[in-house]
Amino acid sequence: MTSATRFSDLPPSPSEVAFVGRSNVGKSSLINALAHQRQLARVSNSPGRTQLINLFENADGGTVVDLPGYGYAKVPSRVRREWPEMIEGYLLEREELEMVYVLVDGAIGPTKLDVQMLDWMRSIEVPFTIVATKHDKVKSSRREARKRDLALGCGVERKDVIWVSAAKGVGIDRLRSVVTTDLGFS
Ligand code: GDP
Repeated sequence: MTSATRFSDLPPSPSEVAFVGRSNVGKSSLINALAHQRQLARVSNSPGRTQLINLFENADGGTVVDLPGYGYAKVPSRVRREWPEMIEGYLLEREELEMVYVLVDGAIGPTKLDVQMLDWMRSIEVPFTIVATKHDKVKSSRREARKRDLALGCGVERKDVIWVSAAKGVGIDRLRSVVTTDLGFS
């Protein structure tokens, strides 16, 4: 079991990918869906809200990092202040980091905070992929328009967005194979 409050405490890893997103976007549900299918073993656990960096080991030995959700109000302000700094330090300095999956709520599209996060990641040239969550919450008649708007709002091509539903198991296999490829194991 490993958990780290500061990125500098993280153990070395041959290659690493990270998930980030605002609180409530569906990050825990998605990582659980990936982990349940036995491709990921949880190597750390913080109960309830993710307030620490959580690590999962990929079957091939890479590391999947669950970064704390941004924008969650119900935590002590001291903790909240440390989050941006910790996430920032991690994204700027983690050498092993191959890809960051930025989760955006598929039902509501990118929030202002999401857009700020994406702008910042572009400015520091961190490679990222948009993962749109809660696919099942978008009515099928609205899906095409929603996909177009979400990609536009995130400033990426529609084909580059991975749509998932942790609740219904949509897109989980595709995401898993993308993670494996990004970790350099395929
Ligand atoms: P986190 O704060 O980003 O870790 O988000 P959680 O995984 O805790 O999910 C936040 C809320 O969204 C919870 O009420 C989940 O049940 C719900 N949720 C997460 N994933 C899905 C999904 O794929 N479909 C639907 N309909 N709800 C989801």
